[in-house]
Amino acid sequence: MMRAMLLERPAPSESSPLRTVDILMPEPAAREVRVRVRCCGVCHTDLHIVEGDLALPKLPLVPGHQIIGEIDQLGREVTSFKLGDRVGIPWLYSTDGVCAFCQGNSENLCEHAQFTGYHVHGGYAEYCVVREDFAHSLSAVFSDENAAPLLCAGVIGYRSYRLSGAAAGQRLGLYGFGASAHLVLQLARHQGCEVYVFTRGTAHRQLAEKLGAAWTGTADETPPHSLDASIIFAPAGALVPQALRHLRKGGTLALAGITMTQIPALDYDLLYHERVIRSVANSTRQDCREFLRLAAEIPIQTQIQVYPLSEANRALADLKQSKLEAAAVLRVS
Ligand SMILES: [Zn+2]
Ligand SMILES: [Zn+2]
Repeated sequence: MMRAMLLERPAPSESSPLRTVDILMPEPAAREVRVRVRCCGVCHTDLHIVEGDLALPKLPLVPGHQIIGEIDQLGREVTSFKLGDRVGIPWLYSTDGVCAFCQGNSENLCEHAQFTGYHVHGGYAEYCVVREDFAHSLSAVFSDENAAPLLCAGVIGYRSYRLSGAAAGQRLGLYGFGASAHLVLQLARHQGCEVYVFTRGTAHRQLAEKLGAAWTGTADETPPHSLDASIIFAPAGALVPQALRHLRKGGTLALAGITMTQIPALDYDLLYHERVIRSVANSTRQDCREFLRLAAEIPIQTQIQVYPLSEANRALADLKQSKLEAAAVLRVS
């Protein structure tokens, strides 16, 4: 048996919907590895899952999709890892490999994709299993806790950054300054961008400045220059027209969230001149590999706040109430 935080019915995180239970330890299939979880990052998507903002394909469910752990059992056909290897398991848990999206280099959109801690049990538990080809090696540069936020906040941030088209010498706007944005800021600076951060919290603005933001302000403020590209991380549709207002002709606005409140009606003028709005959904294994390599090379500094596994409910409630000053990470073992 193993200890896990189990969601039986979604409910507001303040009411502690995750229960500490003992459930059967998973056994790896032929091409899977079993991972003894050391820690697991807490993501906004976990909050949407636990509170039922997303339709849930599996209940009861162990959430968690930024998993760092050590391989403690190998399926009999596994060739790419050995016992004791440290791996990370991100949101993309498996794909069918055969649909048009998989064949077309967009496995993030796979018709039969499964997501960790959503379609299958995730990392708010002592053990989990994963296909060997969906587990990722991690650079020794990062401690377990510091590596955890890279797996979703980082990877999704990287894909959002890529899809925003921001390039060296350009100005990039970031709306909302949580776990993902503070990693993208470092990445974008390293790639030679000037970064403009829009966020309400004073502490967040200070952190953004410390990490090298060229300008910080609230979403109502006007930056000194128009922006070449922007990414909205906050799930607030009202930010879309605000962000478009500061975007230059031909610029791209990428929406990084899995959900968003309704986007208000837009004046066509805000979009005209070939401005692009696009969403970002999941990420590919290649995004993950590229980002983990870059993150180690920079190296990206993750700001973390550690909670014991048993306090997962509190971590989620703190995330919801914007009480976190860094990415929450659950210490499991
Ligand atoms: Zn597919
Ligand atoms: Zn996530």
